[in-house]
Amino acid sequence: MKRRELLKYIGLTAGTVALSGSASILSAAEKNSKSKRVLRIAHITDVHIRPEENAPERFVQCLEEIKKHKVDFFLNGGDSIYAADYDTITRDRVNELWKVWSETTKEISGFEMHSCLGNHDMWWAAPNKQDSMYGKEHVVKQLGIPKRYYSFDKKGWHFIILDSNNGGGSLDEEQRLWLEKDLQTIAVGTPVVCMSHYPILAVCTHVDGGNHTDSKYISDLFYKHKDKKITCISGHIHLLDEAVYNNVHYYCNGALSGFWWERGDKDSAGKSFYKQTPPGYAIIDLFEDGSVKNQYFPHSF
Ligand SMILES: [Zn+2]
Repeated sequence: MKRRELLKYIGLTAGTVALSGSASILSAAEKNSKSKRVLRIAHITDVHIRPEENAPERFVQCLEEIKKHKVDFFLNGGDSIYAADYDTITRDRVNELWKVWSETTKEISGFEMHSCLGNHDMWWAAPNKQDSMYGKEHVVKQLGIPKRYYSFDKKGWHFIILDSNNGGGSLDEEQRLWLEKDLQTIAVGTPVVCMSHYPILAVCTHVDGGNHTDSKYISDLFYKHKDKKITCISGHIHLLDEAVYNNVHYYCNGALSGFWWERGDKDSAGKSFYKQTPPGYAIIDLFEDGSVKNQYFPHSF
């Protein structure tokens, strides 16, 4: 074989290798689709419900649409209400926001909803810490969740719901110890979905920031449990983002409210977009083999 022909031959071989490489990726995807789906979840986050902007009616329309996906239950990623955390927010306003939340979510009263706390959900401006509406406990009650962080099991999957709101996207010491124990108690190989409000890891930190500040601690902990197939979901930054690190997938599923139900600003790529991310929600399919399909559905309400 002449040198030029040999090079041509090598080139072809390389091409064939590349092709068979992508073919094997395809067959993995195919395998995934053949594995039995055990759960379908709706992940809504950053609903930021408010009486303005016709948001209640638009939110209910979204929920009607989501129900058509025939989901088993809802995961709500926090920032359920527009904002209770600013110094100027009054008791009446906080009550008004939670009232709209409870009225609109009646649309899905037939479904379980497991929620986590968002940074805008807490009323820190209450007259004092003894006030029944002060801080996290009131939000826990409004959302009907057992605690500010908790876990539960469903059809062989373990769900961990974290409270990121400990000084700008972080776990506190008590919660870290709990999380370490929680991961130890589940069986080897158990698939896990972990929901937090702030992304534990995200690619788009160059845009706004807003990650967990203790990402290193959490990803190191997850690595100690690499036998468990862990998938993380989040919101907070209103951006659609996906990161993979040490075989753990981190999906940030935009925001249901997009640009807080408003039209947007000069950086919005479309109506109600936050930057290039449209308002939407995710439908997450969980399969028997521990694999996950996370799909973001933009909505136009
Ligand atoms: Zn947030």
